[in-house]
Amino acid sequence: MSPSFRHLFLDFVAVRRQIFAACKDWSGFSSAFPHAQKTSSQGLETGLSKDLLQALNRLLQWPGASADKVTLTQALLDPYFPAEMIRGTIFSHVTGMRFYIDKNRPEIQPVLLRDLTQFAEAFLEIRKDLTRLPSFASRLISPDDQMHPVPSGQWCRMCGTCCEIGGVPAVPPPGVTYPSHWRALLEGTRLDNQQLCPFLFQSPGTKHHFCSIHPVKPVPCQGFDAEDCRARCRNGFLH
Ligand code: SF4
Ligand code: SF4
Repeated sequence: MSPSFRHLFLDFVAVRRQIFAACKDWSGFSSAFPHAQKTSSQGLETGLSKDLLQALNRLLQWPGASADKVTLTQALLDPYFPAEMIRGTIFSHVTGMRFYIDKNRPEIQPVLLRDLTQFAEAFLEIRKDLTRLPSFASRLISPDDQMHPVPSGQWCRMCGTCCEIGGVPAVPPPGVTYPSHWRALLEGTRLDNQQLCPFLFQSPGTKHHFCSIHPVKPVPCQGFDAEDCRARCRNGFLH
């Protein structure tokens, strides 16, 4: 029996994690992640990249995935793509008080592909928007291809849990106007199954997640404080 789409995605994320662990700096990421690489193709020849591309190719060979090959390739090879968070949400089994959803069930695999593809499309759109609007972008997104260290000594651990949400009111801070298509992305009406905010990015090579539009994030997100964080974490994780 051929592996499920879920198993292939989990394999890809595991390889991605190993490669991040092996990369010591941004030049390592650039070599291992072809999409991040701007100056040379030598990195594609490294063993690290080969493993990654093989895992990606196995994923893209799943029936139906080839139609979305370009989108999935670009997004999944982007160092800021929140692959670990997607593994823990969309691709995670769901256990409730009276129900259990096994994400390995064959009929769920096309849904997982749809959800991943939609998220990847949204992620790439936001990446492009933030290139055009650099003042909107978190400083953790490197404009100069250098790694920017995650901040330390703050109460927020950057776990990303508070951004595992189906939507947030798209109210910008005073003086800011969002691109019109951000409303649906923020409010959760664009994706069929929004389990985490598509503006949440992963810091390359770390377990940290951050808001990609931190300087202009919506007013309700700006008001989320340490007490809200404690309450959110006390109430347990969704998955
Ligand atoms: S505010 Fe709390 S839940 Fe949100 S990322 Fe920070 S530590 Fe995690
Ligand atoms: S806009 Fe930023 S802070 Fe608000 S939910 Fe999305 S990622 Fe989190």
